[in-house]
Amino acid sequence: MSSQPRCPHCRRFVYLDTLVCPSCDSELGYHLMSRRFHGIRNGRVVIDGSTWYTCSNREWDCNWLVWENAPAGRCFSCRLTRTRPPSADTVALEKLAKTEEAKRRLILQLGELGLPIVPWDVRDGGLGFDLLSSLSDGKRVSIGHANGIISLDLAESLDDRREALRIRLGEPYRTMLGHLRHEVGHYYQNVLLRDDAEWTRCRELFGDERQSYQDAIARHYATGAPSDWHMSFISEYATMHPWEDFAETFAHYLHITGTLQTAAAIGIHLDAAVMSLRDTDVIPLESYRDEPVQRVLNDWEWMSEAFNRINRAMGFGDLYPFDISGPVKRKLGFIHDIVTKAPLTKDEQFALVFAPPAEATLRRPVERGPSRSPRWCASRSACRQPPGVAPTRSRPPAGSSSKQARATTSRQTPPPVSRR
Ligand SMILES: [Zn+2]
Ligand SMILES: [Zn+2]
Ligand SMILES: [Zn+2]
Repeated sequence: MSSQPRCPHCRRFVYLDTLVCPSCDSELGYHLMSRRFHGIRNGRVVIDGSTWYTCSNREWDCNWLVWENAPAGRCFSCRLTRTRPPSADTVALEKLAKTEEAKRRLILQLGELGLPIVPWDVRDGGLGFDLLSSLSDGKRVSIGHANGIISLDLAESLDDRREALRIRLGEPYRTMLGHLRHEVGHYYQNVLLRDDAEWTRCRELFGDERQSYQDAIARHYATGAPSDWHMSFISEYATMHPWEDFAETFAHYLHITGTLQTAAAIGIHLDAAVMSLRDTDVIPLESYRDEPVQRVLNDWEWMSEAFNRINRAMGFGDLYPFDISGPVKRKLGFIHDIVTKAPLTKDEQFALVFAPPAEATLRRPVERGPSRSPRWCASRSACRQPPGVAPTRSRPPAGSSSKQARATTSRQTPPPVSRR
């Protein structure tokens, strides 16, 4: 994502999920280390003297390349998938392919930000994904995070199902990428906050995460979000508990920086002379690592408005249907600080990416068969559960003109949490 992805043969722009160039029919593979597409012959390509192969999940649309010594022929993103639907469940695997696409985008962004990604099979508590479909066998699949493992219900990759849930829960935005960015926020809160001073500052902004999660759930679903939630939170869901506030805000940090990065990569900027509201152009950056959060927020204020107008020109809803209040800006500033404080170098990141799995985990991704018992435990956190009961409706903010005021239904949530 650091530069505009192109076909190496004809230079045509291609999307991150492109398998075959639509102009010259070249078979393409994405090389994580160089962040570039390469042409493939007979399933392989030589890059800097090393042979790289297509990922063993290419039949399920994974276009990443695999280093010759990678275990099981899986690319780095696919390796992070700890559990997936059974091979015989081709319907679920089709949904997996769509979710894996969003996951590869997430992994690329985390890499661009210099965040550490320690795979689940290298260290206990490392990042991994359990990707299962509640439609496979009718068993409930919770969306959540526990000890580095992110669980998603692949059934939500079905547009009609996800959109129905979005409306039912009163959310202005619901995507698989959004779920991934939220859940990985839970993961990074524990990874990036390293000392008491940082936790103290975090609690000043988001609240004390040691307060009872169960009580918070009960309160949230008894009364809904406070009527003035939009003054201090990015979403109603964020009001439920400090853990959720952090994860929601972290997700928005990724939404914002990721979209600005894409805008920068394709050369979009706003011309002050045309806007007539500013003296200077708005020029998004591919990286805000060396910039204060004010630059991120300022660029986003103008760019998001422009994107919203473009969406409206096509009859869609706003691209970014959220307002960012002063307190939320301060929370985003905190996340910007901890994300940019000590980014890993590319070499450090690749050392993690190519670390060999621990002996105990050296095996293929787990497939859930029909006879396996549910793996949910009391310490699992779960987010944005599809409700089993009618959601509680909270009052809309009185007299508010907030775009978020349209979303007034709170979300059904999860089992208890114990993260730290
Ligand atoms: Zn081409
Ligand atoms: Zn792959
Ligand atoms: Zn959450």
